[in-house]
Amino acid sequence: MPAYKAPLREMRFLLEELLDVGQLSRLPGHEEATPDTIAAILAAGAELCERELAPLNRPGDEEGCHFENGVVRTPAGFAEAYRTFVAGGWTSLAADPAYGGQGLPKIVNFVIEEMISSANLSFGIYPGLSGGAYQALSLHGSDVLKARYLPRLADGSWSGTMCLTEPQCGTDLGLVRTRAVPGEDGSWKITGNKIFISAGEHDLTENIVHLVLARLPDAPSGTRGISLFVVPKFLPNADGTLGPRNGVGCSRLEHKMGIRAAATCAIDFDEAVGWLVGRPHKGMSAMFTMMNSARLGVGLQGLGIAEIAYQGAVAYARERLQGRSPSGAKAPDKLADPLIVHPDVRRMLLTMKAQIEASRALAYWIGLEIDLAGRHPDPARRQAADDLVALMPPIIKSGFTDLGFAAANLAVQVWGGHGYIRDNGMEQLVRDARICQLYEGANGIQALDLVGRKLGTGTGRLLRRFFHPVAAFIAEQQGDAAMAEFTLPLHKSLARLQQATAWVAETGLRRPEAAAAAASEYLELFGLVALAYMWARMAKLALGRQQGEDGAFYQAKLATARFFMAKLLPRHASLSTSLMAGAEPVMALPEAGF
Ligand SMILES: Cc1cc2nc3c(=O)[nH]c(=O)nc-3n(C[C@H](O)[C@H](O)[C@H](O)COP(=O)(O)OP(=O)(O)OC[C@H]3O[C@@H](n4cnc5c(N)ncnc54)[C@H](O)[C@@H]3O)c2cc1C
Repeated sequence: MPAYKAPLREMRFLLEELLDVGQLSRLPGHEEATPDTIAAILAAGAELCERELAPLNRPGDEEGCHFENGVVRTPAGFAEAYRTFVAGGWTSLAADPAYGGQGLPKIVNFVIEEMISSANLSFGIYPGLSGGAYQALSLHGSDVLKARYLPRLADGSWSGTMCLTEPQCGTDLGLVRTRAVPGEDGSWKITGNKIFISAGEHDLTENIVHLVLARLPDAPSGTRGISLFVVPKFLPNADGTLGPRNGVGCSRLEHKMGIRAAATCAIDFDEAVGWLVGRPHKGMSAMFTMMNSARLGVGLQGLGIAEIAYQGAVAYARERLQGRSPSGAKAPDKLADPLIVHPDVRRMLLTMKAQIEASRALAYWIGLEIDLAGRHPDPARRQAADDLVALMPPIIKSGFTDLGFAAANLAVQVWGGHGYIRDNGMEQLVRDARICQLYEGANGIQALDLVGRKLGTGTGRLLRRFFHPVAAFIAEQQGDAAMAEFTLPLHKSLARLQQATAWVAETGLRRPEAAAAAASEYLELFGLVALAYMWARMAKLALGRQQGEDGAFYQAKLATARFFMAKLLPRHASLSTSLMAGAEPVMALPEAGF
């Protein structure tokens, strides 16, 4: 198994040098979140991930979860690691101090989520789901529900789930069948069967809080008739202690390709007592308000997997001796050169590195904007941040999870046949990475969301929040000859993206099928340009710092930026040509022809 080392230098470069994380401590309520405090928290998080969580990743995969008589046991060591996690206050980082949280900026959580995903994706799913439940309740729950559940989710003694999926209902949530009928004292009785519920049952916490989509008796059909409920495994007493067991049970544990230490459960509700969260029939809009952050979270999972795959590939490429460099022996004292001298191996490593570093920059930029959207004193700045944050989730979710899977595959390739052998731990990354492209809205659905919802919002207002800073950055660099090698290709790719955007918007109005056929390629093109923008910004910083004490770090940044511009960004041309081919190439073949 590759040893995980959190890329703290890289993280500080982005937070402190590129993004000025210091601006957070000037926001009301975040005065204590200085760069030094944030760096200290990240260093502690890195230690937890490297020492506690990463060593459990492979044994957890080998052992998997156990299911007996409705009870789920996590693999050896998970319960203890969870106790350490809770004792360290890691479940309450960004939670509201009014409910026992530490009130830290969201960006801190972002970085920690990435580290956890690198160290042990399965483990991270348990607190990740609790974070989702916390958010749903804090945004839409009544004061009574918030007081009852939020402190226990924040302190980690209870965990959360999101119960959407049913056997007949995956992407299309309008097909939900689970029913809710009025119960006593304003409660509801929930009956139905949910499947694929992450952290649906386990032995890490004393109670599990299910957030469940269900229909009221008078509900309109489709997505307009869905309501959101909170349904605890144990019903809490008025004093907060645990009362009787509710009518919720796990009937099956799924046997799956990856994340085998994360319990994925079929959960049955049999007249289970629940409480409405938000308004009747408004469950979908409640889900949508928290979906953006859940999608960013899954994007970070993809990034985390890509990082650990890259670390494993680099370590192996330095140590494995095979063949000689085409330009002559590089280690003449040894029987062969290390893999890392070979151009094709370097191509694979740089393909990972160049996308990972720019993706991380993009993720942290958006993470910081979430904090600005919440607390900046200027309403116009808050709105601008909010718009950008609303635009980016499909690009980050889809782009980063595709990267996670591609990087895990490339890392196996670097390891050769040894990558395919279980004992070495690389194949687990491929299996684990795969789910991120599927859950929280499959990646094809993210593309449809970008094209169908985000593009049109406010007649392109969200889009302009991205296009304007990129165009402004290019314009600012015009007199800087050293930047031309980065800004010229960025400019070209931005022009392609703008042309493709106009095409999608226009064609979408006349022929929705053509826009839908173009959606995935459009999303990929958008992601590519976003990464190019992050590389150009990083290159600008690095150009001025090559001579300093840490010169090698910045020289590596420039070499990687050059690789990205020369070898990865040119794909924008084929993507835009292909996406503008319209619907015909994919729709012309009659169904019988398949
Ligand atoms: C390990 C695991 C954990 C999970 N955890 C949870 C959880 O905690 N809670 C929960 O509620 N669910 C969970 N899920 C369910 C997951 O979110 C769904 O599997 C996912 O939303 C896709 O639904 P589906 O599997 O039914 O696929 P389908 O909806 O049947 O889709 C199949 C394929 O068709 C495509 N497709 C579907 N509709 C369209 C369309 N209109 N246009 C274009 N393409 C379309 C999709 O993109 C996909 O590629 C989990 C699943 C797994 C495997």
